[in-house]
Amino acid sequence: MVLVNSHYQKLQAGYLFPEIQRRIKAFAADHPDADLIRLGIGDVTEPLPPACREAMETALAAMGTAEGFHGYGPEQGYPWLREAIAHHDYQQRGCAIEADEIFISDGSKCDTSNILDILGPGNRIAVTDPVYPVYVDSNVMAGHTGPADEQGRYGGLQYLPLTADNHFSAPLPSTPVDLIYLCFPNNPTGVVATGAELQRWVDYARSHKALILFDGAYEAFIRDPELPHSIFEIDGAQECSIEFRSFSKNAGFTGTRCAFTVVPKALTGQSHGGESVSLWNLWSRRQSTKFNGVGYVVQRGAEAVYSPAGQKQVAQLVDFYMENAALICQQLRSLGLTVYGGQHAPYVWVKTPDGVSSWQFFDQLLRGAHVVSTPGSGFGFAGEGYIRLSAFNSRARVEGAMARIAQSGVQ
Ligand SMILES: *Cc1c(COP(=O)(O)O)cnc(C)c1O
Repeated sequence: MVLVNSHYQKLQAGYLFPEIQRRIKAFAADHPDADLIRLGIGDVTEPLPPACREAMETALAAMGTAEGFHGYGPEQGYPWLREAIAHHDYQQRGCAIEADEIFISDGSKCDTSNILDILGPGNRIAVTDPVYPVYVDSNVMAGHTGPADEQGRYGGLQYLPLTADNHFSAPLPSTPVDLIYLCFPNNPTGVVATGAELQRWVDYARSHKALILFDGAYEAFIRDPELPHSIFEIDGAQECSIEFRSFSKNAGFTGTRCAFTVVPKALTGQSHGGESVSLWNLWSRRQSTKFNGVGYVVQRGAEAVYSPAGQKQVAQLVDFYMENAALICQQLRSLGLTVYGGQHAPYVWVKTPDGVSSWQFFDQLLRGAHVVSTPGSGFGFAGEGYIRLSAFNSRARVEGAMARIAQSGVQ
């Protein structure tokens, strides 16, 4: 009899999005003519930037010729893409990141979970609450946690609450940890971290010899030029951080698939025997064994993000979503609701009216306004009493959703 990875049995049955789907289906069965506006799922809606599409068309045409054909590429990604990233995203912002510290992949979701391949068991782990569920579930699958309690919290993880009281900035752990997941601008709260807040984390990690896994999937949405876009803008971060970035949200690559992970050469961990081991070496070994690279055509599309036309088009795309976010914030505030985020991220974190739970408010919006949201409690215990609205939609749909919420009398 084949044995399974029994850690999977600790996972709470993929609760959030299936339950949302179940409620939508039940509602639609009773109201077949209702035109639902979906502000729930974190997927982009606007078409690809023309510069990216044109670059992919050219690359695809080349693949059909003897001279322009490409087979397996380098596992780490083509140098021209890694160099464009190093230059634009890091060196231009004053970060000493080199092209060979960048690993191209087909997504940050997989990288943030695959990274556990090179980290040992027994690390003390901190995640925020609410949290992007991938960080937690991948640790459960790897056997790094105990079972979940009635509140859905797994044994062995330290949860750092993001609350209105602490301005949604992650408090330092109360007992020492070795591995810290941070995501700023944050999904789901839509709140960004300041340089001073990130410096506190880098200082913590250096003094505890801990590793920060920094998810910067939403950096393009930062509006304030004073705010850091990368953990590597923080002094000392290269000694204690890995950064995950993605073309999914800035350039609309959720269906095209391209991302990258930055592993500084200076970064080390410890072996069981106490010797210092290069994390870059381990990740490089991991990728070249288990990964065969992202398609040539897609990498050419990602490279075009850094062309002058691509930069302009991506900025327009981001501006468009951020105007949606501003509209959502402004309309909901005018109804008397308390909202957070939405200033440097495409998510708005809405406090439910007093005494109304996340799921109750979800139902009110669904039934009263035919608007789909995401219950905050689905992202963690501290998300109870909130819902997340996403700015990823057309202007007309966002305006329609806000008008309907106003009419439904929610307050
Ligand atoms: C969307 C998102 C990503 C990007 O994932 P991809 O696999 O690159 O599409 C990463 N982290 C967070 C928190 C996200 O919301």
